[in-house]
Amino acid sequence: MAVDERMVRDIVQEVVAKMQISGDAGKMHGVFADMNECISAAKEAQKKIRVMSLDQREKIISIIRRKIRENAETLARMGVSETGMGNVGDKILKHHLVADKCPGTEDITTVAWSGDRGLSLTEMGPFGVIGAITPCTNPSETVLCNVIGMLAGGNTVVFNPHPKAVKTSIFAINLCNEASLEGGGPDNIACTCEKPTMDSSAVMMKHPDISLIAATGGPGVVTAVLSSGKRGIGAGAGNPPALVDETADVRHAAEAIVNGCTFDNNLPCIAEKEIVCVESVADELMHYMLTEQGCYLASEAEQQALIKRVIDEKGSPMRDCVGRSAKVLLGMIGVTVPEDIRCITFFGEKENPLISTELMMPILGVVKAKDFDDAVEKAVWLEHGNRHSAHIHSKNVDHITQYARAIDTAILVKNGPSYSAIGFGGEGYCTFTIASRTGEGLTSASSFTKRRRCVMVDSLCIR
Ligand code: NAD
Repeated sequence: MAVDERMVRDIVQEVVAKMQISGDAGKMHGVFADMNECISAAKEAQKKIRVMSLDQREKIISIIRRKIRENAETLARMGVSETGMGNVGDKILKHHLVADKCPGTEDITTVAWSGDRGLSLTEMGPFGVIGAITPCTNPSETVLCNVIGMLAGGNTVVFNPHPKAVKTSIFAINLCNEASLEGGGPDNIACTCEKPTMDSSAVMMKHPDISLIAATGGPGVVTAVLSSGKRGIGAGAGNPPALVDETADVRHAAEAIVNGCTFDNNLPCIAEKEIVCVESVADELMHYMLTEQGCYLASEAEQQALIKRVIDEKGSPMRDCVGRSAKVLLGMIGVTVPEDIRCITFFGEKENPLISTELMMPILGVVKAKDFDDAVEKAVWLEHGNRHSAHIHSKNVDHITQYARAIDTAILVKNGPSYSAIGFGGEGYCTFTIASRTGEGLTSASSFTKRRRCVMVDSLCIR
């Protein structure tokens, strides 16, 4: 077999990623044995960040951005290798998105009132040390995005990352501390303990030096944080339906939906998890999905086999199936398909567990609706009240408005793939912490600040 340059590079990158994962976490910046130590180190660092100018913070952020670009492939390979989820190509794109589009200090703004009685400002001040809990589905993407925003707001951060993604998270945390030191800032702007557990998370939630907790993950963690007695930003689960009506460009809808659904093997919480399509165009949509978009039509027996394999007895997705490709998932039930199959589809009722469960796998069931009202009702049911993300393909503004009001989600993408919502092929900034439950929506630096009124009486108005 001929070995070309690309293969050599891939092998080297794979080895480097494996070395990083098996490396000594104790040598990385910001890593401590114990959560209390993390918090006191981050508290010391915050005292220094607090007195730095916005320009100095921005300098560190620009170095973090450079380091993310330089390490995008290593981070992507580490994430896939450690969690077994997602794919390297899309994870590289996600890291570039964080580097290029997560807002920095430009998001820290001031509102002013001036008049006869002087000048008043509302400014965005830091909370101090923020506690952050991060998922295994976008591990380093979330850590890096959180650090950029939290640092821009003048905070430092202590992470309790998902135990299945701890090495990748530590690598990202180390990069941020290296960037701070290189930019003239302190070490430990981001910290974590070597072995994050539920106990270390509980320490963080109760610690008096933590005044804000940002939780990115499933319903369990968001509920835990919101019960902690501290201010919480809850970025929870979704199950985004993509609705297609009779006015849609159906061929384009098939392309956009399958592209969004298969991005990083369906790991993003915003990704299309099922389709609701009005009956009159459902066969046309399925035709384009099967003939042009690399979808595999699963038979009834294959759907039953998938239900048994990918969903556990509690109704949750099986961990070893989350973020796996369609080819791998089909292989698990003994079905062999060509390399270009990227998504599994079928027509089904909304109650089918492959449709109603947030699987985070490229499995895209299509529910038929008799008309638009029926489609909206079914899509709202499938979103399970998460109020997270939803998508629609329609040329009818009244339909879009009706759907937007009924489903009431933090994100609603019209006529494009879901990832347009985080600035990939769409306008706007990027985040991997979408606070659906607590209402901040797509978080950015300003979400991690508190509002403070600064008042000068009877002076400084020069009107
Ligand atoms: P997960 O809920 O299993 O874990 C997320 C984090 O929470 C991990 O660090 C985990 O250790 C911790 N955790 C879980 N239960 C906890 C508890 N009771 N107390 C304290 N900590 C707890 O989620 P995951 O599998 O890593 O990620 C996938 C889930 O996260 C999906 O439901 C997805 O929709 C959601 N998610 C949401 C967003 C968003 O921005 N809204 C982003 C990414 C992922």
